[in-house]
Amino acid sequence: MKLHKPWACSDSNQNQCQDSNFFSLFLPKILKMATFGDFKLTKSVQKGVKEIGFTKPTPIQVEAIPAIKSGQDVLGIAQTGTGKTAAYILPLLTKLVKAEGEDPRVVILVPTRELSIQVGEDIAELAQYTNIRHAAVYGGIGWTKHAELITPGIDVLVATPGRLMDLYNHNVLSLKKVKTLVIDEADRLLDMGFMPQLHTVFNFLPMRRQNLLFSATFSEKVEKLTEEFLDFPVRIEITPSATPVEMVKQQVYHVPNYRTKLNLVAHLLENEAVFKKVIIFCKTKITAETVFKVVHRKAEGEKRILHSNKGQNARINAINAFKNDEVRILISTDVSARGIDASKVSHVINFDVPVNYDDYIHRIGRTARAGNHGEAITLLDPSEEWHFQKIEKLIRMSVPVYEIPAGVTVVETEKADRQLQLREIDRQRKIDDPTYKGAFHDKKRKPAKDKRDFTDKFARKKTRKKRKKRR
Ligand code: ADP
Ligand code: MG
Repeated sequence: MKLHKPWACSDSNQNQCQDSNFFSLFLPKILKMATFGDFKLTKSVQKGVKEIGFTKPTPIQVEAIPAIKSGQDVLGIAQTGTGKTAAYILPLLTKLVKAEGEDPRVVILVPTRELSIQVGEDIAELAQYTNIRHAAVYGGIGWTKHAELITPGIDVLVATPGRLMDLYNHNVLSLKKVKTLVIDEADRLLDMGFMPQLHTVFNFLPMRRQNLLFSATFSEKVEKLTEEFLDFPVRIEITPSATPVEMVKQQVYHVPNYRTKLNLVAHLLENEAVFKKVIIFCKTKITAETVFKVVHRKAEGEKRILHSNKGQNARINAINAFKNDEVRILISTDVSARGIDASKVSHVINFDVPVNYDDYIHRIGRTARAGNHGEAITLLDPSEEWHFQKIEKLIRMSVPVYEIPAGVTVVETEKADRQLQLREIDRQRKIDDPTYKGAFHDKKRKPAKDKRDFTDKFARKKTRKKRKKRR
């Protein structure tokens, strides 16, 4: 867990901050809590906080820590990079006090192995002066390795839903003692289709328990899960003083096609002094591989690629190397990058528009973390412009458009690509206007060339004549 700059007031909410000093004289204690000391965390947990160097709780921590300590269900919505992990770990460690029994009393569900590892690391640091036992488990490696971690006894278990059930089904894990269930990155868990697995897990947990749900966005799916899963929750929704969306300088390039996008990326990356630490997002593994090949050949510095087909160790090493500034360019799909906490990312390049519009916010939230500034560049081919308009609606701003720099070779769009683009544009127009018949599909298609020879009477005659001549 890295120390970020103390949570300072941005210019835009400076007044609010002054006001809060004024109001703190009058408002209930909870609102003026400004130090970790006010939360009455156990001494050993406070020591961990001090060791990491956190001086001031973030807004979500200010509100969530007391509510969680008091045993209530909590729904916490705050954008990425706002300190949600410590917001639930600190009060839970305080409630656990010390190691006890064999079975976990806290289970934290996360969507990906990277996140499982990261939350595990955060716990390791915050709990370093306690004897509380924890483990982080995830799919992709044999479950027996994880069984070894938990059989000696455990207090906090971080798990992806599938791996949790593996361990439960093999009778390695008992869930009888679980007092608190945390669902972290709920939006991502649901986007990844984990709802059925979550229901299965709920069935095996004790009925009486505290439920905590954290998410960066409050999508319809998250709302539904909240209704099913939380009991009269304390709802905490934080709009940070300056949201990542506001802190990031966003730019858009209209690029005719894939190959020109590759040329543009290579051109931008030539500027090493500006593009110091870059994440390039691609929506599919195949695109990520192509971009990686080109960047590998054309750009300076270390590069790594991150997607779900890569070996587990390769993925973990890539993330760590990027965090430690050993890698300049990281190419990633949306799923793999979620929750990665690397500081001082100078640029996020969206090679394409993400499938989920919310992912745009997550992608650009990789830069400008905890008060730093950053840039996010999005490359749009004609069929993606419609999707980006939806994103602009979501973020409630229109993103400035930049001209493709002179040094970039603009390649002509191949016929097949153009057809794919037109078909997609047609589909989009039909969504906007169900009565729209479709310009592209309704055009009479020319028959394929070889077929044309035989359907066209004239052509048939010609071929016959030719054949006769040859004979
Ligand atoms: P989220 O889960 O909301 O995306 P994280 O919990 O991963 O955010 O925290 C983002 C970063 O902020 C991490 O590097 C973490 O160490 C740091 N951080 C969390 N709380 C504080 C704090 N009170 N002061 C300074 N840095 C913090
Ligand atoms: Mg988080």
